[in-house]
Amino acid sequence: MIDFCDVSKTYQNGTKAINNLNLHIDKGEFVFVVGASGAGKSTFLKMIMREEVPSSGTIVIDGVELNTLKASKIPYYRRKLGIVFQDFRLIPNRTVYDNVAFAMHVIGAKNKDIARRVAYALSLVGLSSKVKCYPNQLSGGEQQRVALARALVNQADIIVADEPTGNIDPEMSKEIVDLLTHINQNKNTTIIMVTHEVDLAKQYNKRIITIKNGTVFSDTAHPEIVGVDFGIPEKTSPNAYYEAPLEDAEIENFIDNYGKNDKEEASASEE
Ligand code: ADP
Repeated sequence: MIDFCDVSKTYQNGTKAINNLNLHIDKGEFVFVVGASGAGKSTFLKMIMREEVPSSGTIVIDGVELNTLKASKIPYYRRKLGIVFQDFRLIPNRTVYDNVAFAMHVIGAKNKDIARRVAYALSLVGLSSKVKCYPNQLSGGEQQRVALARALVNQADIIVADEPTGNIDPEMSKEIVDLLTHINQNKNTTIIMVTHEVDLAKQYNKRIITIKNGTVFSDTAHPEIVGVDFGIPEKTSPNAYYEAPLEDAEIENFIDNYGKNDKEEASASEE
């Protein structure tokens, strides 16, 4: 499903963020990715998103070779992914319904399908009664559940959750991970959850990959993680690798990068 083979990434200023990383994640796995600040986690996610390409090595995700993926195909590739952020990134002046429906509008879905799937996604996360609320009327945990519904609504094969519990209470954090576990088990969706909260990850009997200095430091379901200083959890530093729109003005730009309807796809493949 996800294969990183001898992947290294050096940024233009010479910083080596990823250093000969090898990783295989199977379809339907639930994986925690942990590591200190600066370890390379964001760069790893940016490469999964195809926001960055490796300086060397290859990445193949669900049969798509990311190094050689044509620019016109990137939005379609990204449909495989549902992304959940630390800071939720909900559109403040849209209702819960519209925030989730937005992900389907971007890809040109029909209104009838949108209504059906949004209702289903919100019921999965237990928020059917909040469809007409605005984000600021919800608790942090509820906002993160809306974001999860948005990530799920297009039936993504892979959910990438980047510090999804970083801005919510400990009890709510467990609820979010329980919900991800439920989705993983019931939908066979592959889940990659990046977190600073090693203790939270350890409560689940799941694979934990520790990244240190840009490479895999440990990879085990029963971690005895030693030698890694995880530092102080970052509470409010959303990664900039993917900017879900917050303002109406940002929406067009977002659609260029993440959307495109199927008619356009047909013409792109005729090129
Ligand atoms: P993490 O998400 O684990 O904190 P990052 O992937 O953000 O780690 O960073 C890994 C290393 O790469 C750090 O030394 C960071 O300063 C550097 N880095 C990240 N992004 C860039 C960039 N765009 N240009 C140059 N260096 C970067």
